[in-house]
Formats: sequence, C-alpha cells, structure tokens
Amino acid sequence: MQAQLLPGLTTQTTNVRYVSLLTAGRYLRQIAGEGATKGTPLSDFWRRLEALIAVCSVLHHHQDGETLRGIIGKTYADRVVSATMIPLETKLRNPPYNIYRGTLGALGLFDLSQRSDPLYEGAQALGGAWQPPVSSELGRLLATGNLPRVVEKASLVRIAGNFCLCRVPDGSAEQQKLVDLLFGLKSPEDPPQFSTDGSFGQGARVASWRLLLELVAVSPGQVLWSHHLMERILEPDVLSLPLVEPLRQTMLAWRWVAARSFFERGWTIIFNETFDRLHDKPLGLSQAELRTLMQEWYLSHHGKEDIGDLVQDARRNIQSRDWYTQKYQEPRPRECLQLMAAGLLAAEEDRRTTEASILEALRCSGAIPFNSEYARLLAAVARKDSTSEFWAETSLETLIHHVRIGLRKMRYGNPDSLHVDYEDGQWMIPTKALGWEPRPAEAFSRLDVAMGWARQLGLVTLRDGFSTLTALGTEVKRRWDKLYGQWA
Ligand SMILES: [Zn+2]
Repeated sequence: MQAQLLPGLTTQTTNVRYVSLLTAGRYLRQIAGEGATKGTPLSDFWRRLEALIAVCSVLHHHQDGETLRGIIGKTYADRVVSATMIPLETKLRNPPYNIYRGTLGALGLFDLSQRSDPLYEGAQALGGAWQPPVSSELGRLLATGNLPRVVEKASLVRIAGNFCLCRVPDGSAEQQKLVDLLFGLKSPEDPPQFSTDGSFGQGARVASWRLLLELVAVSPGQVLWSHHLMERILEPDVLSLPLVEPLRQTMLAWRWVAARSFFERGWTIIFNETFDRLHDKPLGLSQAELRTLMQEWYLSHHGKEDIGDLVQDARRNIQSRDWYTQKYQEPRPRECLQLMAAGLLAAEEDRRTTEASILEALRCSGAIPFNSEYARLLAAVARKDSTSEFWAETSLETLIHHVRIGLRKMRYGNPDSLHVDYEDGQWMIPTKALGWEPRPAEAFSRLDVAMGWARQLGLVTLRDGFSTLTALGTEVKRRWDKLYGQWA
C-alpha cells in the first residue's frame, strides 16, 4: 500500500544521492560507448563506483566528526580509509546498485526490461546533470566511463564532496533535475488512480511528495517523524487544508496508513506477548487453556473493565497527538487494545465522513482487513465483554492470522515463516522458532524516508528537531500547485 502511494524510493537506506550518482554513472558509461566496456566491465564499474561513494562519504566528514547514516558499505569504508592506497571493492553481498535498482526503474530512469539496464531517454537530463570532477585524474577517467581498481587516498580528499551522500549541492543542476523528477515538474502526471487491484500510478508519487511539503508548512514547531508524523496526519485540521481533490484523496489514503500503523502496533505487541507465554509451554496449550492463560495474564496487569468503556475512551482521543504518543511509547496490554481500537475507529470515522471510495476499498483489503476487525470489536462491545476477554480473543486471532499469512506466503513459493504451530488442537512454538524474538511494528513510513530525501535536497531544514521549508521548498510547492491546478 505505501509502495503504491509513494513508489520510487527504497526503505532500506535513506540517501537520495544514490539516485543521481548511479544515474550519472550509467550516463557516463553510455556516452563513452565501447571504449568504456573495454576498460572496465559494467559490473566492475558499479562495484567500484559504489565503493568510491562509500569511501568519499566517510572521508568528506573526517574533519567534522559527523557520521552519515545509510552509507552502504560503511564498514568497508571505515576499514580502508586510513590506507594510502584504497581498493575500490566493498565485497558486499547486497550492493547499493541492487538495492536501488527497483527505485531507479520505478522513477522511469533505468529500463530494467533490457540487459544492462540502459537509461530511458527521459533520464538523460538527470544523468548529465552531475559532472565528474575533471580537475582530478580520477574524474577524467570517470568521464570516459571507467574507474580504477585502486585509488590514492590523497587524490580523493579534495573531491570527496562530489561523491558524498550527505546532500545534493544547493543550486546545482543535479538538485534541480532531481526535484523536477520527484515532483513531476517537467511533464505533469495524471491524477492517481485509486483502485486496490493495481498500481495507483505516478500521480500518487508526485501527490505524496507535494503532501510532504504541505505537512511541513502547516506544522511549525512540531516533530515530524515516525509515529509523531503519523499522529500529525490524523489531526483534524489536515482534512480542511485547501487541497485539490486528488491531493485530498491521497491525504486520506495516508491517514489510513497512519490509522493502520497504530492498529498494527497494538496487534503485533499482543502477538508477541502471546508468543512469549507459549514459549514456556513445550507441550503446547489448547485453545481454551491459552485463552484462560492470556486472560489471567491481562488481569495481573489491569483491573476489570468493559471493552465498551475502553472503546469510548479511544473514540474521544482518535485525533489527539499526546494520547497516541503516550500509548505508542508505553504499550502495556491495555494500551495495545487502545491503539488497536483507535486505529479502527479513526479509519472508520474518515470513511463515514468523507465517502472516499479509496477508503471503502482499503478497509476490505490486506492480510488483516479492517472491516472484519472492526466488526469483531463492535461484537465484543455489544456482548459487553470485558477488556481481558477481548484481549484473550485477540491474542488467539493474532496466532490464527500469523499461521494464515505464513501458509499463504508459502503457497506463493516464499520460505517457511511460521513461528507458531497448531496441531492436534494444541498451539505451540516449533523448535526452529524457539530462538526467534519478534519485534513490534514501528510507525516508520515511506514519508520518513522522503523527509530525509527532502532535507538532502535542500527543500526542508531541521532546526532543534523541527522541520521547516526552505525558500526552495516553498518555491517547489508553488510551482507544483501552478502546474497541477488542472487536477482540480
Ligand atoms: Zn558529505
């Protein structure tokens, strides 16, 4: 879902400059033609360029002591950076090119359907925007599409900034072309197509980028990352922002993502607690035994309470940032139920009040559909169940879904990911899963990666932990609105 809303970025690392540097590398290879191929085979060229990027990203900050995040091959770079002669070889099993290849394809830069992934015609502008530093020997070699096996460290110090991942230089052609590309400023995209059985199209990408700037603009003095960002998106004023209709729809889809992330936080912690209780039972537990155990365990933490009262409390707070923050950061059993309920209620409220077709479709989709979970919650309220009963029922549900999702994945040829077994009426942990330590879902989203890119691109600055738009960010927002006013 997030990948459809904001395609063209990887969540594995957070450095936009890989996009421009790899595109420039491919561009230099293409204009050099056969000469390049004779000198350095393409796969060697990629490995050497990746190593050069890693080393330069460490070298560029040797003086200021800053450590950049997301340098792929940082261990290698730290090791070789003190040597006089540096071998351009990271020996990574999963090199940056492989990690970014999907992103480069999704952004319409590399044609992945052909051998050697040549650039699309439209990628030439970005490819030619970054210039190799031809004042150095290495730069002159790179201009011919080649790179050496080993480089002298002294020659790198001066040009490290050209390859460093820290930021895209302000006012550079590289910056301009990247921004044009991500925001769709050169040729407008069609509005996103919200159907859950296909891609939303490139319109969703340019809309999500525009929304990111909007969120920064309307949130002075607010923390905008991880669950804080999701909390911000769920606040009521977001719905009354003056946005063209496709942007408003995209925002509603992101609000659904936000609601979903709080639900999943609660859900995964309940699963983990259930897993932990089963862990101590080598012979397994029957359904009834597990239900009793989980209920008793809940009551050892909290008193008796109607689930209806808990739902009322969540309903009052579905737009309150502080309420979410507290539940998110201190998720005891009761808080987990509150997070789940709030996620379901927030999504339901949006669906009811906005009548957006995308929300109708989304609530019935996914491995754990919201419509059935919402119905299960309402049924518990109608029965006047206690919170401990609902907790125990949910804990069984999380196991059932875990097995169902695992089996479905295996049917599609994925490896066995089952960490719980149900056999002869007993729930148990298989031996292979005894060492597994499940982690709760975090509310980290693709918007967090995009926020990092926006900072490296000079669209957003971070001061005292708060984001603000730069002059360039404001200008891009204005250009976008002018170009996409026709979407209204
Ligand atoms: Zn740097």
